[in-house]
Amino acid sequence: MAEDVAARVTELRTQIRYHSHRYHVLDAPEISDADYDRLVRELERLEAEYPDLITNDSPTQRVGAPASDLFAPVPHRQRMFSLDNVESFDQLEAWETRMARQLEGDRAGYVCELKIDGLAVSLTYENGVFVRGATRGDGLSGEDISPNVRAIDAIPLRLLGEPPEFMEVRGEVYMPLPAFENLNERQAAKGDRLFTNPRNAAAGSVRQKDPAVTASRSLSIWVYQLGYVEGGPAFHRHGETLEYLRDLGLKVNPASETVPDLAGVKSYVVRAELERHRHSYQTDGVVVKLDSLADQENLGYTAKAPRWAVAYKFQPEEQTTTLRAIEINIGRTGAATPFAVLEPVFVGGANVGMATLHNEDEVHRKDVRVGDTVVVRRAGDVIPEVVGPVPSLRTGSEQVWHMPSVCPFCGHPIVRPQDEKVARCTGGLECPSRLREWLAHFASRDGMDIEGLGYKTIDLLLREKLISDPADIFFLGADDLLGFEGWGEVSVGNLLAAIDGARHRPLDRLLVALGIRHVGGTVARLLSRRSGDMDRLLGASEGDLAAIEGIGPTIAASVHDWAADPENLRLIDRFRAGGVQLADEQEAGGSSALEGLTVVITGTLPSLGREEAKAAVEAQGGRVTSSVSGKTSVVVAGESAGSKLARAEELGVRVIDETAFFELLEKGPEAMGLK
Ligand code: NAD
Repeated sequence: MAEDVAARVTELRTQIRYHSHRYHVLDAPEISDADYDRLVRELERLEAEYPDLITNDSPTQRVGAPASDLFAPVPHRQRMFSLDNVESFDQLEAWETRMARQLEGDRAGYVCELKIDGLAVSLTYENGVFVRGATRGDGLSGEDISPNVRAIDAIPLRLLGEPPEFMEVRGEVYMPLPAFENLNERQAAKGDRLFTNPRNAAAGSVRQKDPAVTASRSLSIWVYQLGYVEGGPAFHRHGETLEYLRDLGLKVNPASETVPDLAGVKSYVVRAELERHRHSYQTDGVVVKLDSLADQENLGYTAKAPRWAVAYKFQPEEQTTTLRAIEINIGRTGAATPFAVLEPVFVGGANVGMATLHNEDEVHRKDVRVGDTVVVRRAGDVIPEVVGPVPSLRTGSEQVWHMPSVCPFCGHPIVRPQDEKVARCTGGLECPSRLREWLAHFASRDGMDIEGLGYKTIDLLLREKLISDPADIFFLGADDLLGFEGWGEVSVGNLLAAIDGARHRPLDRLLVALGIRHVGGTVARLLSRRSGDMDRLLGASEGDLAAIEGIGPTIAASVHDWAADPENLRLIDRFRAGGVQLADEQEAGGSSALEGLTVVITGTLPSLGREEAKAAVEAQGGRVTSSVSGKTSVVVAGESAGSKLARAEELGVRVIDETAFFELLEKGPEAMGLK
């Protein structure tokens, strides 16, 4: 038994050393942080159980990995440490209990800070002048990266106020999300490899031979810790040192907060995790530090980390797994969209077995191949995506994927017009996948909102040949449905009532439901506001359509082409015969108080749904767009607003919350200073 344990310990150490080197020195990890942390925790657990097995060179006894020989080594005056991690409130409480055993009297409180996902650096200032920047290395000595650190604008080369004679400060260099997106776009344009995440990109950018490359990467820093000091003021609390660093002109994160007790820590953690996508940088947890410096000194350090601080880790949002296959889905417009079939993996709080790959170019840009180990990301409520492959794990048997030339559902060719990104199935509604998606879209909330007509029922109706296009829905009778498994009087009655309700939807809903290319909610509302009548709309010339404000030539052509197809006109006639209302009752028009205003809605608003908010803007003639640009008049931001908020801040676009949004709807833009 003991021999087995010793062998496992040796194996874990070898694996951890290998991955630590890949991560810290080569900036090319092969496994996710969560998997790496699991190896470390297993080793820690075995070493705690069998203390005789602990060796000085065990990865649990040291920080990071020895510095690479790309840069000159620099010793740190004060050691740089890692942090112990906790993943639950129970573990947080256990940490407090452990500390309480060693400390007398009451705790002076805790400082909670965001754990920035970047690269730790030490900055040395002498008499207020920047003299050196270094990586953490193995904690005792790091790499001298001074020229690169000088290239980071956010790091002052001369401090403000009254700096001490000598000072080492610690901070996290990070790459802001817009800079990361920008960098990857540039990498793609050059045909270079994409960075998997901002941390990796930041680490790679700091450890460059040419500081001009670092300078081009728009890095920034958050400073979080005072290290060795000579000739400075005396402090009693960590919170005071942060204030001091801020006064010296260093960038200290404004989200840091002092709280009196563990209850305060917990509520900070909950808030920080909820709001983690609001920032323009990535965070992977909360660092909790004891505020009293005397208590910190009493507790001291383990070989690897301070006993007076702990990192509460958020749910991991990235994991590695195997890409089993790439398949395609034919959407309601015929678009063939590739998606990844994955070995299921738990990430971002859910089991993920599939992830979108957008289009063929994206598959090649990311260079993901069937059989690859891939990084999968699921952040917040964003749909899971394949970030990229781990090329170093390739065995040579991976397959490069190409869009199939024939539709797997209907056998018609799949074609991709030369200047388009999207390949399409040419089978029209003979393609069962396309028809199914169209019917689902037609009945969905965004379309005719027919409750109870989801994929399952659609599959049944298709299988039984009761419908073959959306108009057939309005000819269904009770006898058609009664008797199928699970369909009794009540459920049939409910479905028919829902179908009847759909006969009276406003015209814009029907326009969306029809799935005409380029006609989404906004365009449909513009079209129906103008004409209010399907026949008039279908009879309009391309010029008439293009003359409607907000309707460009592409949309006009698309609507006109649709109306020119006799099949489509037959469909409309059958809707009419099925009792579907084809004209709005009230006159087109409405308030136009928001005309000329371009609004972006982002994040979760406290009471309004995204669609509701959008409809409210459009009802008053405003436009809602999905991305923030110089033309955006105002951004309405809710919870977890993420990168759009950051972009708005960057461009100086006004950002308002839901309360102010209601005020805008009620009083108009002038009252809000928006015109
Ligand atoms: P850590 O990242 O868990 O915690 C310590 C670090 O947090 C500090 O060194 C500092 O850089 C950073 N930090 C951010 N904000 C801070 C703040 N406000 N106050 C103090 N420190 C703050 O530990 P680590 O030793 O740097 O590295 C371990 C991390 O690296 C883990 O997340 C681990 O999963 C990952 N890792 C991954 C692999 C892999 O192969 N995927 C390999 C090695 C390490």
